Amino acid sequence: MSDKASSHDCGFLEDVLPADRIAVDRSNREEFALDASVHEPVMPDAVVWPQSTEEVSDVLAAAHERGVPVTPWSGGSGLEGGGIPVEHGIVLNVKDMTGVDVEPENLQATVGPGVVYDDLNEELAKHGLRFPPGISSGDIATIGGMIATNASGFNAVKYGETRDHVRRLEVVLPDGEVVECGRGVVKTSSGYSLKDLFVGSEGTFGVVTEATIAVSGIPEHKRAALVTFPSRTEACAAVADVIGAGLVPAAIEFVDTLTTELINEYRDADALTEAPTLILEFHANNSGIEEDVEFARGICEDHDASSWEAVGEREMDDVWSARRDALPAYRAHGEDLEPAFLGDVVVPIANYPELVEMVADASEELDVLTPTVGHAGDGNLHYAPLVPEGDEDARERASKVHERVVEAAIDMGGTATGEHGVGLGKRKFMRREHGGALELMRTLKDAVDPAGTMNPGKVVPDVDDSSK
Ligand SMILES: Cc1cc2nc3c(=O)[nH]c(=O)nc-3n(C[C@H](O)[C@H](O)[C@H](O)COP(=O)(O)OP(=O)(O)OC[C@H]3O[C@@H](n4cnc5c(N)ncnc54)[C@H](O)[C@@H]3O)c2cc1C
Repeated sequence: MSDKASSHDCGFLEDVLPADRIAVDRSNREEFALDASVHEPVMPDAVVWPQSTEEVSDVLAAAHERGVPVTPWSGGSGLEGGGIPVEHGIVLNVKDMTGVDVEPENLQATVGPGVVYDDLNEELAKHGLRFPPGISSGDIATIGGMIATNASGFNAVKYGETRDHVRRLEVVLPDGEVVECGRGVVKTSSGYSLKDLFVGSEGTFGVVTEATIAVSGIPEHKRAALVTFPSRTEACAAVADVIGAGLVPAAIEFVDTLTTELINEYRDADALTEAPTLILEFHANNSGIEEDVEFARGICEDHDASSWEAVGEREMDDVWSARRDALPAYRAHGEDLEPAFLGDVVVPIANYPELVEMVADASEELDVLTPTVGHAGDGNLHYAPLVPEGDEDARERASKVHERVVEAAIDMGGTATGEHGVGLGKRKFMRREHGGALELMRTLKDAVDPAGTMNPGKVVPDVDDSSK
């Protein structure tokens, strides 16, 4: 682990925060050297836990004055290294900023960045409401982290991603200035949408200290089904047809055969039939849900579905819990296999079957075991090339699979990342995806953070980087 322990003198923090909210000891610095990604850890020089916007502002102003980098941190569940303090400096952890103010009559809530997704939904449920983007790491991920990465999950196909729910943000800029962007209203045409600049910016423009987000009612009716297919091609073609037919499921997930096997192995149970599988869920408040389910079933049968199993409301949690275990199952597989990369591409829905085939072909050709799973209704596919620990040749082959897939997705008109963010790992694909717009991103970064102290080394590749 990289530890240039005294790369930045952070003694000034003692004049800014109470001593019990600053840590410079090794074990704390080690804990915040790495998020949940596969990237190399880097030790910060100090970790701080501010409790208010004013304290965040004081830390940023003092660090800015001295040229000390600051990396925001919430739940630490990021999968692309966005929270790794690659230039050391300060990790600023907002986990204590957990205010929740629900306005049921306005269908919105104003929340602190440290509120954990599941905790927010528990609070909202008291009012019959929920924050619906859905995320598999809901027990760890916070609203601040979700805004910073524009996170989403199972339910984005119906309810949209985090960005679609952000109405107003309070942000502390790199020099400590506090700004409000957006309003707590459903619509506005007033000027540039600055809140959208901060959503998905992964802490490179400032620290989100408060957010007003739109929330929705808990749906009255839910139906779900587990559907298996003779091949992944038929499963994915069925997804494209369900979406193409104008149906709006609340979730439509693809799980490949290898992933069903790994989940069963991880859970030591027959949670899923070991075959290419779709998990479908429909929500409604009025009538019509049965017709939607039957329509979807007809499409699946047109694609030779091998089985259709209706899942009752009580069993739904078990099915989603099994699906959530995909990543832990990849990580736990075998004694010495580990994911070399965690892919997160998105393509236009009509290209989804082609993308899934492409991943399988590239993995076979390069002899890499690559399980896949995805929020298929959004065209979002996750894949995890598994390699033996320490096997550099296998890692090189996995890297080729990863590069081929990301490049193919971009060339199909898609994106390198649907929800995990660019962080460290996707910077090299930014040129291929954004072309000349990458220069505009650099201009914006320089304008908002001229000293370059706000989460440096993330999102935008260095000018001399051989970006693809
Ligand atoms: C098992 C597992 C399942 C996952 N499933 C999903 C999924 O379904 N969908 C999905 O989208 N992601 C998923 N993720 C990834 C991760 O949970 C999300 O990226 C999440 O949004 C990160 O939230 P966090 O609070 O942990 O943020 P962190 O990991 O702490 O930070 C993420 C990024 O946001 C920045 N940041 C954090 N807080 C702030 C702030 N207050 N202001 C400005 N910048 C900030 C950090 O600097 C970093 O760049 C999964 C991860 C795991 C481990």
